Amino acid sequence: MEKSIKTILKGARDPENITYDLSDQCPHCKVSVTPDIIYAITSKKYEYRKSNYAAILVQCPSNNCSQFYIDYFHLPATESSIYKKTSRKEKYFYKPILSNDLPNEVNEKFPEFNEIYSQAIQAENYGLNQIAGVGYRKALEFLVKQYSIHLNPENKEKIQKEFLGATIKNSLGDFKKLQSLFEAATWIGNDETHFVRKHEDHDIASMKKFIKSAATFISADLDADEAIKFTKKS
Ligand SMILES: [Zn+2]
Repeated sequence: MEKSIKTILKGARDPENITYDLSDQCPHCKVSVTPDIIYAITSKKYEYRKSNYAAILVQCPSNNCSQFYIDYFHLPATESSIYKKTSRKEKYFYKPILSNDLPNEVNEKFPEFNEIYSQAIQAENYGLNQIAGVGYRKALEFLVKQYSIHLNPENKEKIQKEFLGATIKNSLGDFKKLQSLFEAATWIGNDETHFVRKHEDHDIASMKKFIKSAATFISADLDADEAIKFTKKS
């Protein structure tokens, strides 16, 4: 529902009327509503010809609900008078957004792993912890398998077919500490996929920590390979 709302422009003297396409359903009680507008303000200081964001604090008018929520909008810059019409409604999250902070070398070298890991992060961002746990377990398997095949391309078929534990044991014997990281992450990961949890004291955060350390280890190994190639050439 379109509505013109007097919006405080941070750093500017006067508020401005801006038109927003507000949600017409309360996110708490799911009832269709004409929300009560409490307050609207831009997120950044007003600057001529610069885009901005605005948050509208709204309240559900239903007496049974009366909950507050926020509608959030992008305010594109325009040539003349700025912020007259909004274009894009944004999702508003109360949790910090997680992002894929694994080393680039690993994400680029093993794109399938990167894809699964990134999807697991998205699931975690949406609060789908059960799905995220299963996703991280799958990502872990892809990292172990893809890196092992990178080290032993001649064993590709065997590595693809065998159990994850066997690959960790058979293909990563030269890297004892990496083996331990993968083993620990696998134990926690298996808890995420099985009915009964064995390791109550470790959760998704511990599994991610071990996967990140393993990826950092692998990234250093890939860099070292590049350095060896380079020094041999010269
Ligand atoms: Zn409501």
